[in-house]
Amino acid sequence: MYDVIIIGAGPAGCAAALALKDSGLHITIIDKHKFPRDKVCGDAIPGRAIKWLKEIDASFKDELCTFNKKILTQKTVCYYNNKQVDFDWKQEAYTSTRIDFDNFLFNVVKKKNAIDVFENTEIKDIIKDENGFTISSRNNTTVFKATMIIGADGTNGVTAKKLAGFEIDRKHHVASVRAYYKNIADTEASRCEIYFDKKYLPGYFWIFPVTNGIANVGFGMLSEDVVQKNINVKKAFYDFIERSNVLQRKFKPANIEVTLQGCGLPLGSRWINMSGDNFILTGDSASLVDPVSGAGIGNAVLSGKLAAEQTIECFKKKNFSAAFIKAYDKKLYKMIGIELKKNGWALKYFSRMPWLINLAFSMGKSNFLKKFIK
Ligand SMILES: Cc1cc2nc3c(=O)[nH]c(=O)nc-3n(C[C@H](O)[C@H](O)[C@H](O)COP(=O)(O)OP(=O)(O)OC[C@H]3O[C@@H](n4cnc5c(N)ncnc54)[C@H](O)[C@@H]3O)c2cc1C
Repeated sequence: MYDVIIIGAGPAGCAAALALKDSGLHITIIDKHKFPRDKVCGDAIPGRAIKWLKEIDASFKDELCTFNKKILTQKTVCYYNNKQVDFDWKQEAYTSTRIDFDNFLFNVVKKKNAIDVFENTEIKDIIKDENGFTISSRNNTTVFKATMIIGADGTNGVTAKKLAGFEIDRKHHVASVRAYYKNIADTEASRCEIYFDKKYLPGYFWIFPVTNGIANVGFGMLSEDVVQKNINVKKAFYDFIERSNVLQRKFKPANIEVTLQGCGLPLGSRWINMSGDNFILTGDSASLVDPVSGAGIGNAVLSGKLAAEQTIECFKKKNFSAAFIKAYDKKLYKMIGIELKKNGWALKYFSRMPWLINLAFSMGKSNFLKKFIK
């Protein structure tokens, strides 16, 4: 029996756990995997994720200094139609494989000793009762009871489906693949590269160097376009390289280290119902990925923080009603909802009017593009 159960120990769940560590509440965090575990991602840890984590936990800054499986990102270069726009980053952002970064973050939570941890425990069923929820793992091997649930179980998780009736909408969803390569020509460890191709606009191809001379390489585009244009995303990844002279040259000496794997991104261009009686959804389970950049880690951390703050309020006021918890949705909307909606519109415009991207590149409007590629 717990006051709060956090389902999922990715960035959203760990942020919520860290923000709740001094609450005095009886809390557990549950994940279906034993860590370290991989997560298909571009591995770009955005500046806003670092900023929020430092705000949540005063010791995070020192913990981050001791974590050496990361590279500081100093530059992003975008290519389209033989034109190039460069951005220099002032904010502290990194690349780090998710197997390393998420394990580091989860270890920060574990070290605090304030919260029970269950790994290798996949939640299968959630049943609402008078006082909260009964939550069962696969084959009913463990049954938990909780007054409050924080859903942080990512895309395809159980909480968004069972608690909020969430279903994928292809207009607000990206289909994506990524692989790891070694020996790509002309890469710099601190430089991320993004490529556009008019055939696949507004989707993009990325090369994000991580540690040990390896780069995370991937491609993603709107799921609606994938279906309408009958695109095989894995084939499109290789076609993207074939269609670009620059990429062909770069990949000539390269060796694939980890083969292509796919995963979807639930976009925040659609604002879903992310709370209700006794529950709050965060991160990908609340569909908070930026529609243009595809970044979701920063918003996952922020939503975990706000979910924890709302949960503390609920216990203080002994009010777990949907109406009271709605304050969470409202605060989150104020902080990032408007921006996500705006970027959703931008995605639509880029999709219908690809000349807008052409224009931005021709004019070297880095500030215009920078609004989105962050
Ligand atoms: C190809 C790709 C590239 C991306 N690139 C970037 C990028 O470069 N930068 C960026 O900021 N974002 C990127 N994103 C988005 C980013 O990966 C997500 O937004 C982010 O991981 C969301 O964090 P989260 O904590 O909500 O979910 P997750 O990181 O998915 O964590 C969810 C956790 O819940 C656990 N879980 C799931 N189901 C259950 C269950 N039933 N019971 C118990 N535990 C469960 C999982 O094991 C997992 O540990 C990318 C996404 C994709 C698919």
